[in-house]
Amino acid sequence: MDPRLSLMESSSDEMVLKGIFLPFISPSHLVPVVDIARIFAMEGVDVTIITTPANAAVFQSSIDRDCIRGRSIRTHVVKFPQVPGLPQGLESFNASTPADMVTKIGHALSILEGPFRQLFRDIKPDFIVSDMFYPWSVDAADELGIPRLIYVGGTYFAHCAMDSLERFEPHTKVGSDDESFLIPGLPHEFEMTRSQIPDRFKAPDNLTYLMKTIKESEKRSYGSVFKSFYAFEGAYEDHYRKIMGTKSWNLGPISSWVNQDASDKASRGSRDNKAKEEQVEEGKDGSWLAWLDSKKEGSVLYVCFGSMNNFPTTQLVEIAHALEDSGHDFIWVVGKTDEGETKGFVDEFEKRVQASNKGYLICGWAPQLLILEHPSIGAVVTHCGMNTVIESVDAGLPLVTWPLFAEQFFNERLLVDVLKIGVAIGAKKWNNWNDFGDEIVKREDIGKAIALLMGGGEESEEMRKRVKALSDAAKKAIQVGGSSHNSLKDLIEELKSLKLQKLSA
Ligand code: UDP
Repeated sequence: MDPRLSLMESSSDEMVLKGIFLPFISPSHLVPVVDIARIFAMEGVDVTIITTPANAAVFQSSIDRDCIRGRSIRTHVVKFPQVPGLPQGLESFNASTPADMVTKIGHALSILEGPFRQLFRDIKPDFIVSDMFYPWSVDAADELGIPRLIYVGGTYFAHCAMDSLERFEPHTKVGSDDESFLIPGLPHEFEMTRSQIPDRFKAPDNLTYLMKTIKESEKRSYGSVFKSFYAFEGAYEDHYRKIMGTKSWNLGPISSWVNQDASDKASRGSRDNKAKEEQVEEGKDGSWLAWLDSKKEGSVLYVCFGSMNNFPTTQLVEIAHALEDSGHDFIWVVGKTDEGETKGFVDEFEKRVQASNKGYLICGWAPQLLILEHPSIGAVVTHCGMNTVIESVDAGLPLVTWPLFAEQFFNERLLVDVLKIGVAIGAKKWNNWNDFGDEIVKREDIGKAIALLMGGGEESEEMRKRVKALSDAAKKAIQVGGSSHNSLKDLIEELKSLKLQKLSA
């Protein structure tokens, strides 16, 4: 029977494509998966996002606005399991998560697999998009006979580089941790050192098994979704498909695609989003904006190290001096500073730069999307987290690269060696999340990178031209007929035809 006839016989509810989105419980994985869910809803898909109460609080206001916009999207909240010793409301891995709570949150997350699977059965979706950190969801989708799409957090580039390390083990062929080696078999040549690659490539550690399981689930998934765009790393998108042997859709930059008005941008990723939106509505969100408005175009450096970072005071001191000595204006997102030595130093520094009107400190969550798009911003100092990288490139801003953990050292190579839109600060050693080892990046090194990028020399002008071209390409990618827009359309069509096949079977 023609599947279309079968569809016409179905009830109208059955005809709508239904998707479940299961984001991970850390801001930089939660926020983009919610953004992806929201672009599916923009295209008429019926979307259910499954998460826990404290995580829902981070994005619910955007979902409420999408409902008012007429989109079929909702959040299904599942109670976070009570684990002895875990305070209520602590449901996320982020910069403020106490180290002794990490295992407890992980335990709670493993308990959630049962309720999540049950919800899949109850909601009966046509497909599931789940974070890479839920490898079990590929089996859950298999049980229901529906496709699972894996959301992969990093760049295609980092994935390809890590695959090359696994296959060819170039890091085992050098004499020391500081000797550089080529990463073979990739579209471009670039070098790294053993001290810059994650520990698990050197000796099995507690992430080895998890990452192996994730990769297996990635290969068994129907396909993967990424959040960059073809002009940014197209050669690696193609290479990834070859080495993984799976389908993949590149859907970015999702942040600017879906967060088009100021309320969405102001509250993105923040738990106190209600307060932030009210400030926007009442016109009180003014201080950072008024400060930026008072500055010359392209003159301000934006300094932020993502949602997971808590530098020790010694490192904050070096950053502060470098910024002050640079002579350039800056916005520095310091994050939360508790009472004590750090707070004392930061307060003192803030007073000084307020008096000189050279700097603006944000001690908490910054409205990053709004700041990046402000014309006064001229460059970004980043830890090379993938979200910030794409958001900065989308805004046409060159970067000072200061990788710390996860796949960030690979992203640095993409920015500095391949795309040539970044200046490396010279970070030498990969560390685990929030383990800073004994490497402190000195103010002189930070200063040199800032001077090169903000100094207006030929090299920095060339970088600005290249990143501007990428920014233009990013804007085109999400317009009708653009590469990411086409990817989303193709993916939705493919999911619809799978649904039709199932209905007619
Ligand atoms: N972010 C923000 N305000 C902050 C810190 C981070 O809006 O004060 C957002 C930022 O826009 C990005 C995400 O949080 O979307 C951070 O992700 P990224 O991949 O850059 O770094 P990670 O948090 O994974 O280290």
